[in-house]
Amino acid sequence: MKFCLCCRNVFSAESVLGLVDGDGSVVCNATKVSQLDVATSAELKDAIRRIHARKGIDDARIQEVRENTLGFTYSGYNLMVDRELDDIVQPAEQFMHDWMHCIFVSGVWNICFEMVLQALWSAGIRDVYDSLRDYVKLWCWPRRVNSGKLHELFTDGRRKNNHEALKFKCSASEGLSLYMILAVFFKVYGAICAAERRAYNALCDVIDLLSSVARGKIQPQQLQDAVELFLDAYSIAFGDDHMTPKFHWLLHFPKSLRDVGTLVACFVHERKHRMLKRYCNDIRNTTVFEHSVLAEEPPHCCFICIYGCLLLLSVALMMLLNIQVMPGHVPPDLGYGRDRLHDYSRPSQTAQAQQADARVFEDALSSQ
Ligand SMILES: [Zn+2]
Repeated sequence: MKFCLCCRNVFSAESVLGLVDGDGSVVCNATKVSQLDVATSAELKDAIRRIHARKGIDDARIQEVRENTLGFTYSGYNLMVDRELDDIVQPAEQFMHDWMHCIFVSGVWNICFEMVLQALWSAGIRDVYDSLRDYVKLWCWPRRVNSGKLHELFTDGRRKNNHEALKFKCSASEGLSLYMILAVFFKVYGAICAAERRAYNALCDVIDLLSSVARGKIQPQQLQDAVELFLDAYSIAFGDDHMTPKFHWLLHFPKSLRDVGTLVACFVHERKHRMLKRYCNDIRNTTVFEHSVLAEEPPHCCFICIYGCLLLLSVALMMLLNIQVMPGHVPPDLGYGRDRLHDYSRPSQTAQAQQADARVFEDALSSQ
């Protein structure tokens, strides 16, 4: 089965993750961008038009084989079939995977981290979850991180569930908060499971780059080098059997970055989606469904807007008082976090401050 929209030469094989994960029913073992045969927009549109043209003419079994081989299924109003949109719809250049789902939603990080934990367990380190629970509690987190329950991800019950699922289960934002400090933690094991931890560190470098793309500092070649290094390291440490299509997606991010100039992640969309679900999920009287949702969700949005305006007013007040508030890149010589970790952990070239990190510089205060 062809599972990648963009590639003409990538087909599925059986993965051991197929037993526990829908995504895992196929394995992808390409580790270099140069191994990919990327289709053009014209070829993609031609493929799906063949499927639409033969719908209802060929036997259903033949049509199924055709859909599996070409990597598309019939969908009546597919934009790529509409010839009036030929000048507008260019799927090879416009299609982009979401790096948040790729990494953190039953994604590459969830699988890679679980594989490292299982390797440590197999190496005789049976208290790794207890150690991680105590370790995560020690950290003082930025205000934007809802850190109160992060250590509860490392209970014994969680360990058993993760072990059976062959992936570490947590939300995307929890994974984003944890991935870097876990790389520091693994350092205490010295030479134990060195190849596995090397793969994990290489993945952390990839996540550093992906999460920094929005600031315009990351070059496509830089990202490609990091991705290929990780996939090689992962293949050496764990073999190809635990590589799902999301590992393959990584190879397409450099091209997307080159084509579009940025990489889009769905963190914001998922947060908005969650707000809607909060009201929609509990509505049982579907005869007035729209009315019920519209009575609840807009007031919620209004409250958040008013809260945001108050935050902006407080920032404006600080600026009037000549106190510098600077979200953005952290200068490396300030010693905030990165340099303190540098001696005993993997260095990050893209350490950064994010929204809701307010930094007040002493020089700015003393110059008044
Ligand atoms: Zn592909």
